[in-house]
Amino acid sequence: MFEGLRFVPVTWPWKKDADERTLGPAVRVPSSGSVELVARIGAALPDPCLVLDAHGVVVSANRQALDLFEFDPTHKHFSAAIRSPAIVEAVSHILRGGEPMRADYEQRVPIHRSFEAYIAAIPGEAGEPAALILLRDLTREQQIERMRADFVANASHELRTPLASLLGFVETLQGAAKHDENARGRFLDLMRVQAERMRRLIDDLLSLSRIEMNVHKRPSDTVDLVQVARHVRDILSGLAQENGMEIRIAIDAPMPVLGDWDELVQVVQNLVENAIKYASRGRQVDISGRIDAQYGELTIRDYGPGIAEEHIPRLTERFYRVSVQESRARGGTGLGLAIVKHILNRHRGRLVVRSELGVGSSFSIRVPLAPSRNVS
Ligand code: ADP
Repeated sequence: MFEGLRFVPVTWPWKKDADERTLGPAVRVPSSGSVELVARIGAALPDPCLVLDAHGVVVSANRQALDLFEFDPTHKHFSAAIRSPAIVEAVSHILRGGEPMRADYEQRVPIHRSFEAYIAAIPGEAGEPAALILLRDLTREQQIERMRADFVANASHELRTPLASLLGFVETLQGAAKHDENARGRFLDLMRVQAERMRRLIDDLLSLSRIEMNVHKRPSDTVDLVQVARHVRDILSGLAQENGMEIRIAIDAPMPVLGDWDELVQVVQNLVENAIKYASRGRQVDISGRIDAQYGELTIRDYGPGIAEEHIPRLTERFYRVSVQESRARGGTGLGLAIVKHILNRHRGRLVVRSELGVGSSFSIRVPLAPSRNVS
C-alpha cells in the first residue's frame, strides 16, 4: 500500500536551528510526483512559495506568491519574479545538490517590503533535482523593531533634557551661587519644575507599558461613561478655573459601556486636560454623549486654536506634538494621546478627532456598550 513512498523528516524552515533539529512529524512523500505534492503543501502555506524544476523554471506558485508578484510566474524562469543575485546564486547552489540556504530579499515596488527567502532542494521528476523557495515577510517585524528603537531614543532624549538642566542648577548652586540666598530659592523652584517634568514622563511611560501588557485582556466591568465624565470634571474643575475655563456636561441618560473605570477616567482626563492646556482661550470645554446600536460615544469639545489637518493622523504617535515648545511649556509629555489610543485599543474602541483651525477641536471616544446595560 505504501509502495513508492518514502519517509522524509519535515522541519520548520524558519527556525534558525532547523537544519539540526527535526521539529515536525515525518510526512510521506512519494519519490515520484513529489513536486506536485510539495506544490499542494505550498498552496496551504501562509507565505509566498515557488516550486522550481531542475532549470529554475517555476512549476508552481501559491496564491500568496501570485499576490506578491502581481503576475503568475508559472512556466517562466523564477528570476522573472525574484530579481535577486543572492537568490539566483542560492538556487543554483541547491540545484547542484547543496544544503538549504537563506537569503535576504527586498521588494521595492509597489511598496518596499523585506523578506527572508528559504531555498531548499526537493526530489524532482525522474531523479532530477528541484527546488523550493519560501518567502517570509519581515516588513512588519522590522517596522516594529525600528519603532522600538526610536521609542527608546525619544524617551531617553526626553528624560535627558530636564536631567541636564537639573544638573546645571546643582552645579551653579554648588559654585557661583553658593552663598546667594535669593538665587537658591529661585533655582530650587526651577529644579522642582524639571523634576516634576521627569516624574510626569516616567508616570506616562509606566502607564503606557502597563496598558500594553494588558492590551489582549479585554475589560469586563460595566462602566457608566457619564459617571466617568462627572468624576473627571470634579478632578479638573480647579485646573479649569485657574485657566478661566468651565467644564460643562450635557448628558442625561447613563451610558453603560464595557470597560475599566480607572483607564476610562485616564482617557477622559487626558482629553479634558488637553482642552484646558491648549484651548483655554475658548473659555469652556463641552462634554456630550450619545449611544448607538453598539457603542457609547463621549465627545470632548473645545473652542481653542484647533489643529491643522496634516497633524491629526499623527497625534496618537508617542512623543508627537504639534509644537514641542508649547507642549513643554504646558507640562506636556507628548504621550497623553498615545495612552488614550492604547486604552481604547484594549477596550476595542476608537478615537475620532475632528478639528478646524480657529474654531476648535473635538475628540470622540467610542467604546462598545455593555451587554446587560446595567451599571454596577
Ligand atoms: P502632550 O503631552 O504634548 O499634550 P498629547 O499626546 O496629549 O501630548 O497631545 C499631542 C499633541 O496634540 C499636543 O502636543 C498638542 O500639540 C496637540 N493637541 C492635543 N489636544 C489638543 C487640543 N485640544 N487642542 C489643540 N491641540 C491639541
